[in-house]
Amino acid sequence: MKKIMKTLLVTCVIISMFGVSVIAQNGKSAKKNDDIKYLESSLDIKLKNIDSNTVYDTRKIKNIKKNILIDEKLEAYDTDNMEVSEYREIQQKLIIDKEQIEFMLQIYPELSYEHVSTWSYEECQEYIDSVNDRIFASTEGEKVQLLAKGVTLNDARYLLKYYDSYEAVIEASESELIEILSNYYQFKIDFVDYMNYVEESNNQNNLLSGLVLKANAATPPNAYIDNYVQIPSFPYYAYPNDYVHVDAGTDNQYTIRTQSIQAVNLFHDIFGQSATPKFTNIWGAYSSYSKGAHEGIDMVGSSGASIKNPISGTGIVKTPSSSALVVQKDSTVSSSYDRSFFFLHMTNRTTLSSVSKGTSLGKQGNVGNGDGGAHLHFAAEKGLVTGTHSAKNNHNLDSANPYSYSIY
Ligand SMILES: [Zn+2]
Repeated sequence: MKKIMKTLLVTCVIISMFGVSVIAQNGKSAKKNDDIKYLESSLDIKLKNIDSNTVYDTRKIKNIKKNILIDEKLEAYDTDNMEVSEYREIQQKLIIDKEQIEFMLQIYPELSYEHVSTWSYEECQEYIDSVNDRIFASTEGEKVQLLAKGVTLNDARYLLKYYDSYEAVIEASESELIEILSNYYQFKIDFVDYMNYVEESNNQNNLLSGLVLKANAATPPNAYIDNYVQIPSFPYYAYPNDYVHVDAGTDNQYTIRTQSIQAVNLFHDIFGQSATPKFTNIWGAYSSYSKGAHEGIDMVGSSGASIKNPISGTGIVKTPSSSALVVQKDSTVSSSYDRSFFFLHMTNRTTLSSVSKGTSLGKQGNVGNGDGGAHLHFAAEKGLVTGTHSAKNNHNLDSANPYSYSIY
């Protein structure tokens, strides 16, 4: 119980500290619990498809947020009785702080200081969304085929977590898509259910009246919901409001910023400075498909892109399976920890036995779909090993932090 409450608190703090209003992302606020919006379901799936952005959070705000309002000279608001969702709505209109400006300039160097320094948090989020919309855009032809297949465009974007392209989604079997999307809908229902559990203890309205609960037995169990926190966004990542394992540490404004900058640097070190970063699974992301936390980062370079070693110093190369390559850093030679870095789904792998930073390791392959289709899966493991953890239905996060690749 204690752990559950702590996780919930953390979730709530991140979302609002990050300056992103979950309520207002669709441009319209939900004022009451019965304003929860239902999205159209794909493929005649009978489960409700909740727009979790419209769930209104009636818990009272904490002191940290009261102080922000006072700093902003907004003490006229009744801060003692303010609800979390009301606070988020106010906060998104505020001009961003220095930290947020620096963050935007680092992730999006095309922006100028003069321009971004007058933005509100809402405007920042709109920019992040527009960049992601561009990166994950489908062609007109794909749109027509997805809709003809019965898959909504929103759901198609979610499916990119499991398929390398919209084309692959179009070609996938209906039963496979129904299974993935049913788990996704159920996960959103479970989250509202979980919020409701807290609400009920405050004698609030039942958020879920009319919803069919637990209709799908293959759902992420409620028992593990506190292993994950919901994060509002991660730059160049297709899935806002995704659930990420608490052990990944992606659970506050500062860490989201730090990790996303590290992830972009990693992408550029691997695929070159001119490549546009695109992530289809971040470290610890909850995968309803593999029923666990993702043990690595999935990075999408262009097809056949050359992969350069991002690890500094001398690394020993191992090739434990047909498309895997491991760069091992031995602590007695040139790093402070024994670490093994995994590059999965590769082709044309190097035959060198040792490499340094920038050495070509091979090419991004076009392999696998259980893990996200054509992408490079990059993971870090503790020790000099050739076996990697993968999501394995236990809701733990066992791999090492891959964002810290540059410090080993
Ligand atoms: Zn992966």
